[in-house]
Amino acid sequence: MCGIVGYVGRNRAGSVMLDGLKRLEYRGYDSSGMVVATNKGFEQIKRVGRVANLEEDLDELQLGGNLGISHTRWATHGDVTEANAHPHTSSDGKISLVHNGVIENYGAMKDFLTDKGYTFQSQTDSEALCNLIAYHYKKESQDSGKNPFLEAVRKSLRHVEGTYGIAVVCPD
Ligand code: GLU
Repeated sequence: MCGIVGYVGRNRAGSVMLDGLKRLEYRGYDSSGMVVATNKGFEQIKRVGRVANLEEDLDELQLGGNLGISHTRWATHGDVTEANAHPHTSSDGKISLVHNGVIENYGAMKDFLTDKGYTFQSQTDSEALCNLIAYHYKKESQDSGKNPFLEAVRKSLRHVEGTYGIAVVCPD
């Protein structure tokens, strides 16, 4: 179980999502995090513990964008650490993802992606799906005509064994 909040609109995504995370904190309170997509790429903050710990440092960070995703975690795979908190960003920096649930076949995904040069910063199952979407995004971007991001998410989810609710962003 976890809480997921995404926002796109005219307001600052950071403050809207913080409000949402506070409301969903009962769903997961071992750590929390958010990412905002800007013209310069992703800006991110993650903290172990209550959402209040994230809030303390959020003002100082001045997350600027108006599109983002956020998460309160209830760990299933990996310790309660900042590295394991969501969002997870793909090793090529193209995709960021928050996930609720369990990816049963994440080990096979990681083996496949490691062979392709992707690297992992966390012990979570979720990071494997994030990098799988990045892998498909790269392939789809080489084909013209379709929305490569949408196709990449669609294709990646076909390979998932397990349970998931996700929110995923791509600054491109
Ligand atoms: N399986 C993921 C993790 O351990 C997601 C857990 C959740 O739903 O909060 O990070």
